[in-house]
Amino acid sequence: MKTKIKKLITEGQDFLVTTHIDPDGDAIGSAFAFAFALESLGKKVTVYLNDQVPYRYEFLPGPRVHHNTIPSGSYDAVFVLDCGSLFRIGDGHENIAPVKHLVNIDHHDTNDRFGTINLVDNTASSTGEIVYRLLKYLKVNIDKNMAVNIYTAVFTDTGSLRYENTSLSAYRVCEEMVKAGANPSQIAMMVYESHPKERYLLLGEVLCTLATYNGTVAMAHVTGDMFEKTGTTSEFVDGFVEFIKEIRGIEVAVLMREMNKDLCKISMRGKGTVDVAAICSMFGGGGHRNAAGCRIQGTIEEARHKLLEALSAGQ
Ligand code: 5GP
Ligand code: MN
Repeated sequence: MKTKIKKLITEGQDFLVTTHIDPDGDAIGSAFAFAFALESLGKKVTVYLNDQVPYRYEFLPGPRVHHNTIPSGSYDAVFVLDCGSLFRIGDGHENIAPVKHLVNIDHHDTNDRFGTINLVDNTASSTGEIVYRLLKYLKVNIDKNMAVNIYTAVFTDTGSLRYENTSLSAYRVCEEMVKAGANPSQIAMMVYESHPKERYLLLGEVLCTLATYNGTVAMAHVTGDMFEKTGTTSEFVDGFVEFIKEIRGIEVAVLMREMNKDLCKISMRGKGTVDVAAICSMFGGGGHRNAAGCRIQGTIEEARHKLLEALSAGQ
C-alpha cells in the first residue's frame, strides 16, 4: 500500500486532503500533518473540512482550509483520513467517489475499504500514528507543525494515553513528536484546560438527564433547547460521554444529541465488555470496540428505547 501511495505522491502534483464530520483531534491533527507533509514535498494541497475546526483545536497549526463545499479541481489523488466510510466526510462525498485515486488512511474497526488504495490498520492507536509511519516511509522531514498535529492526534485518540489503544508504538510516536518540537503540557492545556465557561453550564444541564440501567448502562442527552439556553453548539459536547463512562460499574456510556426533532446523534463508549462498534453498526454507524457512534431516526426517547433494546440483545 505504502509503495502505491509513494508512487501517487511522486507522480502527482495536486492533492485533496479531507477527514470526517464533527472532527476530533485525530481527524484534524492527521489531516493537517499530512497536508503539511505533502507541501514539504513541493505539492499543491487543498484541505477540505465539512465543519469548522472545533474551538479546542484552533491552536493547531494548519494549512488554509476550505469549508462547506469541496473546491472543484482535477486532483491527482484524494486522501481521506480517519473515516470508516466515505459518507463520513460530509457534503460532497458523492463527488469524491468517482475520482481515479482515492486513498483511505484509517484505523477504525468498521472501515469499509472505500478507497482505491486502503491503508487501514485497526491495530494503530490513531490515524495520526499511521500518518507518522507513512511520513517516515516517504522520508518527510517532520517539522514542528507536523509534530504538534501528530502528537495531538495520538494523544487525544488514546484519551491522553489511557485507553486500551495506548500501545508502545503510540508512546514511541509521542516521543518522536516531542523530540521534533511538540510541547506536551502546552498541548494538554489547549485541549483540556481552555474551555469557555459555557461548556460547564451545558454539562450541568446534560448531567441532570443522567440515567442508569442495571447499573451497567449510563445514558444522558443534550437537546437543542439546552444549547440555546447555554449559548453553546454541538462542539461543546465533545468529551461528555467520557464523563459518564467514569461511573463505577458502567460498561456502556451513551450520549444522545438531538440534531432535530426526528434525528439523534449517538456517541457510545465502552470499557471492553461490550463491542459498542457492533451496536452502532446495527444503526448504520461504526467506530471502534470501545468508542463508536451512529445516527438514529426518531426522538431522544425513541432512540433510548432502540438502544436499550439493541444493548440487551447484544449482551
Ligand atoms: P464520537 O462519538 O466521538 O462521534 O465517535 C466515536 C468514534 O466512532 C470515532 O472514532 C468516530 O469516528 C466513530 N463514529 C462516530 N459516528 C460514526 C458514524 O456514524 N459512523 C461510523 N462509521 N463511525 C462513527
Ligand atoms: Mn481516530
